[in-house]
Amino acid sequence: MRYCRFVLNGEAQYGLVEPVGGKDSILRVLLAAPEDCDCDVEELRTRRIERIALEEATLLPAVRPSKIVCIGRNYREHAAELGHEVPKEPLLFLKAPSALLPHGGVVKRPKLSQRVDYEGELGVVIGKRCHQPAADEDVKGYILGYTCVNDVTARDLQNKDGQWSRAKGFDTFCPVGPFVADGLDPWAGVGVETRVNGEVRQQGSTRDFIFSLDTMIRHIAQAMTLFPGDLIATGTPAGVGPVVAGDVIEVSVEGVGTLRNSVADE
Ligand code: ZN
Repeated sequence: MRYCRFVLNGEAQYGLVEPVGGKDSILRVLLAAPEDCDCDVEELRTRRIERIALEEATLLPAVRPSKIVCIGRNYREHAAELGHEVPKEPLLFLKAPSALLPHGGVVKRPKLSQRVDYEGELGVVIGKRCHQPAADEDVKGYILGYTCVNDVTARDLQNKDGQWSRAKGFDTFCPVGPFVADGLDPWAGVGVETRVNGEVRQQGSTRDFIFSLDTMIRHIAQAMTLFPGDLIATGTPAGVGPVVAGDVIEVSVEGVGTLRNSVADE
């Protein structure tokens, strides 16, 4: 199952995405938000629409999270490239939901920053309220699906401020999508790749997470209740770097698809 959020007749809808003649297309509209339904998305009643090629659809951010929780330094080589030690427990920070940007949207480099970096990441979308799960509870039951996230960061401000809210929170700094997909297994290893103008910059596998998804979700939900639709960005592999106006960033997650955004100056 893969679904997106898009605009149909001026209204936000959830659409099932299916390949038609090799092109991803929206054929059916879900009659409820998948994260509001405690069931399999396939069980949601759907309404047929005239086929819309995905590239012609006006996409919205694939999720509507109450919060975006991010894990810093979750790949050894990335911690090393920024000169940091491997953390002893998951390092959490929050990204503002107002930073969300859909597939195809433009990342704006703020005037306040001289260095804006991409960070390609696997995104986890929560499907069920999660508060302090038991140590032996399988966290898979709380996950609705997975998506691509670009944790865009004003690196100079991150270093200057000492904490990360501003550096990670500018408008347009959280591209997400194009879909939410299930049917992939980050525990077994899922490829995460970032390209800038077609050139590969990051290539990682979730097999190399320092902290597993179980540890991440337990650690977060020990502190704050996760709600359906909440988004977890699971950390970025080595190879982060700056972008300039005119660049095109692509984040691909194996089994999900490719999130593509261009860059412009504010
Ligand atoms: Zn990140």
